[in-house]
Amino acid sequence: MAKKRDTGLHCSFCGRGETEVLLMLPGLNGCICNDCAERAHEVAQEYLAQARSAHVDDIDIASLPKPDQIKEFLDQYVIGQDNAKKYLSVAVYNHYKRLAQKADDDGVEIEKSNIIIVGPTGTGKTLLAKTIAKMLKVPFAIVDATVLTEAGYVGEDIESLLTRLLAACDYNVEEAERGIVFIDEIDKIARKGDNPSITRDVSGEGVQQGLLKLLEGSVVNVPPQGGRKHPEQKMIAVDTKNILFICGGAFEGIERKIAQRLNTHVVGYGAGNHIAKVEREKLLHYVAPQDLRSYGLIPEIIGRLPILTNLEPLDREALRRILTEPKNAITKQYTKLLQLDGVELTIDDDTLDYVVDKAIEFKLGARGLRSIFETIMIDVMYSVPASGDKAFRLTRDYAARQLEKSNFEMLAQAQ
Ligand code: ADP
Repeated sequence: MAKKRDTGLHCSFCGRGETEVLLMLPGLNGCICNDCAERAHEVAQEYLAQARSAHVDDIDIASLPKPDQIKEFLDQYVIGQDNAKKYLSVAVYNHYKRLAQKADDDGVEIEKSNIIIVGPTGTGKTLLAKTIAKMLKVPFAIVDATVLTEAGYVGEDIESLLTRLLAACDYNVEEAERGIVFIDEIDKIARKGDNPSITRDVSGEGVQQGLLKLLEGSVVNVPPQGGRKHPEQKMIAVDTKNILFICGGAFEGIERKIAQRLNTHVVGYGAGNHIAKVEREKLLHYVAPQDLRSYGLIPEIIGRLPILTNLEPLDREALRRILTEPKNAITKQYTKLLQLDGVELTIDDDTLDYVVDKAIEFKLGARGLRSIFETIMIDVMYSVPASGDKAFRLTRDYAARQLEKSNFEMLAQAQ
């Protein structure tokens, strides 16, 4: 590099001249050298981190959204599932209250209440978690239990759950320690059968034991980059005492365990009739901790998830509402997409009924609504923008033709 010309500029912070530093940045009334700029960056980061944790410290209960407001917010995105929404809203609100609690209070310590949500796949577990995240004032992470294995086996260590949480708040440990973690597919770490097998159950009971440590509240060493690929990384100690855990799982087939239990417990005249009348789908209403135990969760874990709630299977009416009502409903998205091309989209009512019918027929549930709608709309999205048309009406006949043409039925069956 050519030798620098001395222009007589000096750093306004350290006083060094331009030839003594690598880079001099001139400002309006002074200059800053690269060293001072770096130092300033560090100081700013420290200050911002402190300011952020102060933000959590200063939680003012009066200004927090109340449970009914949290539920109202959820209502904008998630259809139905009132029960689960209520439990979640109260849990989140209580979590804030715990955080706001001062040490010099009257000695009554509000304990955290982790939650477990049982519900068929595609009924809104993840959607609920994501929607809650939108309005939270604390760090939030969604993690999948299926990737977890016992330490030393292929997969991720349990501690990596907290890596996500740390990443969600720029590695501010104090903030992470007051965060919320949503663990999806918790049913996948259920014990596989009651017989101890010769092959170790590295992704089942072992993981549950590890998870228990986090749920109970302990100081855990967390690899900042997750995984085991970076053995040299410095661990970060995180106390999980105040972290709220929300678990979700489909627990496929748990209805059988519930039915069995109800049969053995309901005794007396007419009991048999009562069970017969409980529809299969409605059985989930009656889910109890014992059923989770029969399913393969260890009692200690169940004890640490004291709030148990369920999601309803989505019926025809719910699916119909999902198409049009949520703030980001698929039909609203398409209307907007076409609007940006100056095209007004109208959708006939019976077209919506048709889409719902097909989602039910192909057993695709709410997830299928989107793929069916996209299949129907593909040609319109392709040709209308260039056609100069100002409007498009989506009729049932058109939708049916599009779906038949695309062999959707075959594709859906292959899924
Ligand atoms: P899971 O229960 O398996 O976690 P998801 O929350 O991922 O299901 O739902 C899959 C998709 O189906 C969501 O992205 C959403 O579009 C739709 N969906 C499912 N349930 C609902 C619901 N109750 N209200 C609105 N949309 C829903």
